[in-house]
Amino acid sequence: MPLRITVLGAGIFGLAAAWEFGRRGHRVRVLDPAPLLHEKAASTDLSKGLRHAYGEATALYAPLVREARAAWLGLEAQSGRRIFHQVGALHLATRLLAGSFEQRSLDGLRALGHPVEVWDAARCARALPGFDLEGIELGLHDPEAGWLDPPQALLALRAAALAQGCRFEAGAPALESVRGESDLVLLAAGAWLARLLPAAAPKLRLSRQHEALLAPGPSGRTGEGWPFWSLDLATLGFYGFPLHPSGHLKLACHRPGPDGDPDGDRGPVPEQARAVQEFLRRRIPGLNGLPDLGRSCFYTLCPDHAWIIDAVPGEPGLFVAGAGGGHAFKFGPVLGRLTASAALDGRTHPAFAWDRPASGLVV
Ligand SMILES: Cc1cc2nc3c(=O)[nH]c(=O)nc-3n(C[C@H](O)[C@H](O)[C@H](O)COP(=O)(O)OP(=O)(O)OC[C@H]3O[C@@H](n4cnc5c(N)ncnc54)[C@H](O)[C@@H]3O)c2cc1C
Repeated sequence: MPLRITVLGAGIFGLAAAWEFGRRGHRVRVLDPAPLLHEKAASTDLSKGLRHAYGEATALYAPLVREARAAWLGLEAQSGRRIFHQVGALHLATRLLAGSFEQRSLDGLRALGHPVEVWDAARCARALPGFDLEGIELGLHDPEAGWLDPPQALLALRAAALAQGCRFEAGAPALESVRGESDLVLLAAGAWLARLLPAAAPKLRLSRQHEALLAPGPSGRTGEGWPFWSLDLATLGFYGFPLHPSGHLKLACHRPGPDGDPDGDRGPVPEQARAVQEFLRRRIPGLNGLPDLGRSCFYTLCPDHAWIIDAVPGEPGLFVAGAGGGHAFKFGPVLGRLTASAALDGRTHPAFAWDRPASGLVV
């Protein structure tokens, strides 16, 4: 018997869930007050990294990334859109210390049989011309990683959901009225989740993150052919992308920033923007001095940076899929599978449960 399902929010969580609910034969309606690809959604971006390296959380996340990568390739074939750019990932480390993000990722990926190599500084330098590697000892190379094109990914997901009969509408009606006309409601409102569901507020932090965007111009080739890269991801936290076909080069710092309001200021976060400039001066001098065209966006974070994909306790028929932090996009289709599993089969993945034991995992 098909259920009447309403999904509130058409970011990566809502779209992936809608597609999966539709595939399972349910009657799905997706509501969002803003159009797809609006610039306040965390899912709207120039590029999103897809990496398998997850430090001490590699055993949890890497198999899900592998599953997601295969599903993205399937969606590429189905949609005819170029979603994934397999340029590899190079996780640079000043030193491969025991217990570091890079060492734990290496151990975790080898245990899973995932192809990964340790490159010395000379090999890293060949992969990143224009990047000053002074003091960097090595890099963990993940050849199956790369970057996703969010507009292409989101448009392909929406088309796939439409093909399953899902309906899309503009609006943000009161939760109670939506619940009255649905068998199941999924809250997938990203940084706005706690406004819809105040009970989620104590679990979440909204962290404002600056993403720097540089346009090297027609003669600038810095970043061309680079892999997706990071430097001491769990401590220093910088990461970046190859030169985008649009002519832009994006980089950012993964460390959480100041608290903020998703409807507030989206300009650069001054201290983060300054840190980017210092980083460019030291590491990518060819980009130093270019104006930063970037903006800020929000990580919706649980303390362990794991998501919430579960039923809301004491609220029959009400589910949450969100708290994607700074890393959920790459999992796209897997988020849909996990959501349908929790909402339709009563099988919540324990790592993403509403109430879970504190784990210190941070990615
Ligand atoms: C700066 C930055 C960099 C990131 N980099 C990466 C990366 O490299 N790789 C990676 O895998 N992940 C990355 N992420 C994480 C990823 O982008 C997010 O976790 C993910 O996009 C969150 O998706 P969402 O669907 O929860 O939220 P959103 O995409 O924000 O979507 C939520 C939607 O809900 C709608 N909404 C709001 N209120 C209501 C309402 N009342 N009713 C209905 N709808 C409503 C909004 O309009 C919005 O469209 C990054 C995130 C940020 C912020």
